[in-house]
Amino acid sequence: MDRALEPELRRELAERLRYYRDLGIHDFYRRGSRPRSMEIEPAAETVSASSEKLLFSVEPQEDMGARKSGVMPVVADGGIFEVVSPKPEQGVADHASALKVIREDLGDCRRCKLHQQGRKQIVFGVGNPQAELMFVGEGPGADEDAQGEPFVGRAGQLLNNMIKAMGLRREDVYIANIVKCRPPGNRTPERDECETCSPFLMRQISVIKPKVIVALGAVAAKNLLAINAPMSELRGRWYDFKPAVSDPSWPGARLAVTYHPAFLLRDPRQKGEAWKDLQMVMKYLGIQPPKKSAE
Ligand code: SF4
Repeated sequence: MDRALEPELRRELAERLRYYRDLGIHDFYRRGSRPRSMEIEPAAETVSASSEKLLFSVEPQEDMGARKSGVMPVVADGGIFEVVSPKPEQGVADHASALKVIREDLGDCRRCKLHQQGRKQIVFGVGNPQAELMFVGEGPGADEDAQGEPFVGRAGQLLNNMIKAMGLRREDVYIANIVKCRPPGNRTPERDECETCSPFLMRQISVIKPKVIVALGAVAAKNLLAINAPMSELRGRWYDFKPAVSDPSWPGARLAVTYHPAFLLRDPRQKGEAWKDLQMVMKYLGIQPPKKSAE
């Protein structure tokens, strides 16, 4: 049944279609009227609290309390239309090679205005092309822009410590951002910038096929989940996540939300809460926290 679209929605759809056509994508199919729902499971109980004395210095465990449950809207990659045209990386079996194809496709990207607002370079993403765990932040900062790698400044050091506290190494995971160019003055990336850049992130996710994605901060979470909610509502639960264009044999990832490391630097009291989020992820992935060496 045809429905009149709001002018704003019509304009956004037209922009998005134009963008996909710029990418050489022309075939679009309207998704069914009712997207699949996802069950939100109560978060896992805290796993062993014995791992708290780690480099990711966390505060004492608190009772996680009652967790949220219920049914949330479908997780999509930000559009009403599913794009089903083949991507150049599809059919490239090797994950690292497929990521290279996406990077080449991105080229010296000028698709959004961030290309002319002082970026030094594009920050594509880094890590294990076959990672089970992927972290997604908001966008590069000054250090990342200078070095061409996500999460290398102070916030990156804290993220490294968080990864280490989980018993993993930075090389084990994959790290990327919603936008790949530094917003001027480290401002929050704007909606059109996120919408223009995130299809490339979706393609990276489709290649890597992680078991779990951790959204770092509200901007990443809202863009990935297309949900406008405060962190207090976004955290502490699982979401099903699968880009619209991905391997049909891949069931998709589970997605959890935690605080951005830059926020934790400003408010270290929230580290304990972030650790609970990471423990939920560890339990799902079957990761045992490292033993304390003094014992
Ligand atoms: S942020 Fe993304 S879409 Fe915008 S110019 Fe950079 S790479 Fe291109």
